Amino acid sequence: MVKARQRGNRVFHSEHASRKTIANISFGSSIVLIYSLNMLGAITGDIVGSIYESAQIKSETFELFHELCAFTDDTVMTVAVADALLNNLPYASNMQKWGRKYPNAGYGVSFYHWLFSKDPKPYNSWGNGAAMRVSPIGFAFSTIEEVKKEAGRSAAVSHNHPEGIKGAQAAAAAVYYARFYKDKEKIRSLIQDEFGYDLNRTAEEIRKDYQFDGSCQKSVPEAIVAFLDSKSFEDAIRKAVSLGGDSDTQACIAGGIAEAYYGYAPAEIEKKTRCYLPAEMLTLIDEFYEKYQLKKEPAS
Ligand SMILES: [Mg+2]
Repeated sequence: MVKARQRGNRVFHSEHASRKTIANISFGSSIVLIYSLNMLGAITGDIVGSIYESAQIKSETFELFHELCAFTDDTVMTVAVADALLNNLPYASNMQKWGRKYPNAGYGVSFYHWLFSKDPKPYNSWGNGAAMRVSPIGFAFSTIEEVKKEAGRSAAVSHNHPEGIKGAQAAAAAVYYARFYKDKEKIRSLIQDEFGYDLNRTAEEIRKDYQFDGSCQKSVPEAIVAFLDSKSFEDAIRKAVSLGGDSDTQACIAGGIAEAYYGYAPAEIEKKTRCYLPAEMLTLIDEFYEKYQLKKEPAS
């Protein structure tokens, strides 16, 4: 029987034991896994940022893959959304399926109850849980209208507050735009005009007095700025963590956008990321890429 404990508003269940298990499974599995060039950048961000959520580091200089890093709720729900798209499954039941498989991934208290509810209802949340899980939507659709509609649908099952819907749509739209436009100023103005976020800030300006904030409205724009300010995939992840906020979620959002913009990361980063993931997630991720990466078109 696992015992729940609470850190801030997040619930962890026997966290230490769980991380050990994850490490054993993933490192053991990695020996027999066939190495693939595809991976979700959002998941790298989640893993890298996982140990800094409470640490509030204000630096871009840190060990990228610390031994205590682990995937968290951001990864589990990103995989759940990818699975829903890939296999045409309803978002709510599929999020419950994956969430219950990995109940100790650090969910917010309300979402944890939602995951285990027999009749899950949206609870008017504006939490950034709506935005952390949508990068697959930004990759899977061919028009911005579809991306926004689908991101809204994915959010509405739990995070149906207008700011929750908006945060999901903005994060997915940023991934979509980053696939097609290699002009960051264009991406900045498109997101700003469409969603009203203030993106005319630098990561350095935000970092000065930014603190943990789990709302979409005060963490999604900052994550997008981390990407806009970056020089590479890795730099986007480092900048997102360095803001000193909800580091795993903000690096997850920035990582998804950065992947769409830069292409994925250096092979070494991808290889290390895969070592943190169980085989069933890797299989699904690879299937997702096989189906959707082909839709990628040249930048204009
Ligand atoms: Mg998390």
